[in-house]
Amino acid sequence: MNSEEILKQVTQKCIRCGFCVYSCPSWSVHGMNEYYSPRGRVTLIKAMVNDPNFKIEEAVDSIYTCNTCRRCYIECPTGVDVAELSIYARDYIAKKLNAVK
Ligand code: SF4
Ligand code: SF4
Repeated sequence: MNSEEILKQVTQKCIRCGFCVYSCPSWSVHGMNEYYSPRGRVTLIKAMVNDPNFKIEEAVDSIYTCNTCRRCYIECPTGVDVAELSIYARDYIAKKLNAVK
């Protein structure tokens, strides 16, 4: 599977429960803004790989401010690993943005 296929498959597992949000240090230091939460990252990544009208630049700051600590993974009832997703998303973003330059 390539990074796009992995991102599509794993983001389907998120049920948007929010159990992960409070564990995220990135969310805390960014004023508890959903954009910087694990759930917010999953939502952005899901849109990025499924919606052809989504502007990738809008997801960059969120994805690159995940410090890959995996604290959210401990809380997630469906096993979504946002750290791993963020790493695949960076690969996806780099390829897409370089391709359009
Ligand atoms: S892995 Fe990323 S999204 Fe998850 S708690 Fe750590 S900084 Fe937040
Ligand atoms: S805990 Fe898991 S299923 Fe719930 S919102 Fe976070 S990533 Fe999605």
